[in-house]
Amino acid sequence: MIRVRFAPSPTGMFHVGGARSALFNWALAEQSGGRFVLRIEDTDAARNRPEWTEGILSALAWIGISGDNPVFEGPYFQSENEPQHREAVAKLLADGKAYYCDCTRELLQERTGSEHKGYDGFCRDRALSAGAVRFRTPDEGVTVVDDVIRGRVEFPNDAQEDFVIARSDGSPLYVLANAVDDITQGITHVVRGEEHLANAQRQQLLWPALGANPPVWAHLPVIVNEQRKKLSKRRDKVALESYRDEGYLAEAMVNYLMLLGWGPGEDREIMPWAEMVPLFRLEDVNSANAFFDEKKLRAFNGEYIRALPPEEFAARCEPWLDPSWDRGLFARVAPLAQTRIAVLSEITANVDFLFLDEPVFDQASWDKAMKNSPEEILSGYLARLETADMDPESLKTALEEVGAEHGLKLGKAQAPVRVAVTGRTVGLPLFESIEALGRERSIERLRAALT
Ligand code: GLU
Repeated sequence: MIRVRFAPSPTGMFHVGGARSALFNWALAEQSGGRFVLRIEDTDAARNRPEWTEGILSALAWIGISGDNPVFEGPYFQSENEPQHREAVAKLLADGKAYYCDCTRELLQERTGSEHKGYDGFCRDRALSAGAVRFRTPDEGVTVVDDVIRGRVEFPNDAQEDFVIARSDGSPLYVLANAVDDITQGITHVVRGEEHLANAQRQQLLWPALGANPPVWAHLPVIVNEQRKKLSKRRDKVALESYRDEGYLAEAMVNYLMLLGWGPGEDREIMPWAEMVPLFRLEDVNSANAFFDEKKLRAFNGEYIRALPPEEFAARCEPWLDPSWDRGLFARVAPLAQTRIAVLSEITANVDFLFLDEPVFDQASWDKAMKNSPEEILSGYLARLETADMDPESLKTALEEVGAEHGLKLGKAQAPVRVAVTGRTVGLPLFESIEALGRERSIERLRAALT
């Protein structure tokens, strides 16, 4: 049985890169009826916070990864496995595969003459009984990490120092804890970000030393921004949560994240999760950097929004609607907005004019629309509205006529009316908006704009 894992450290907001790794693992587990183990790597006590763990769990659930699916196992917490990590260190010591070392950095530097040379193996045969614990690495040959995505990666052993696996206070280091947990949790495939490739070199040595066959390795391509720089917390919008809160649909997000290094082929991009799962293959993941294109994600989201049944769309907008707003009225205009917005949070600015006593006043919009003394247009249209039929076609004809009287095309005549009625220069189609707002309220707003 395929057993994969996702092993985030709860040290910050949950990153889109983490979500991509989680989804690739999830697809592998789901397609094979295997298991997806969630392991929270919470051993860095100084940087962990319980709210980050909560954030990871809720973000994963948002993209469909949760215990609701029997493929899911966990969450396990790495800190709870410390006894096993210590046991593993003891065993490696007993087997002579690791040794104690009491060299200080200064001593090492004195001996090697450089700060940058690795550890020189000084304590290898000193048979100390205390100190930090170092793993004995081979001096010659190469360590091969056979990576499904990157192919055969060779690391010359003479460049790999005897690395530390436990501090002198006995606490195990991450590189060891991670391997021990993968082994005890029966992980068959380690699929994670490329930044862990250097760990794979060390873990390729640790696994057999701990009596296990190394897993299948797959290191996923780096995700880069528009400047082709690695996505970073400081520069880029990377928190999955911020996309959720802006009104990206989970299914659009999932779809887009799956394309960061992979694709279902045949030029298809928009594809629901259930169809992607059986097609996903690690062998098809590209090793080249993957560009996280926010514009494309936005366009994807717009497509997903437009594909929703109208009632579903209205329901998804709920978090962005004020509780006091009349839902019947909203349902009437929602389909007009559905074809226009790319993220759900944009719904508010599109429909608020219907529910507020007065439209939101935006000076810039006002100045732009009112610059050519539009009083005659506004008052002319106001007069027509008193008697006009309230269907969009008639409302449009009425404005065309008023415009013609003053030598203005419809486009020009629309601008001041739109701002007077909705407060904004862009938004839902004007005549449908006036119809929804109703005769009285529309007249009132035109009148207010004239004073
Ligand atoms: N805890 C590591 C991280 O968050 C993941 C290590 C791994 O996947 O092996 O980067």
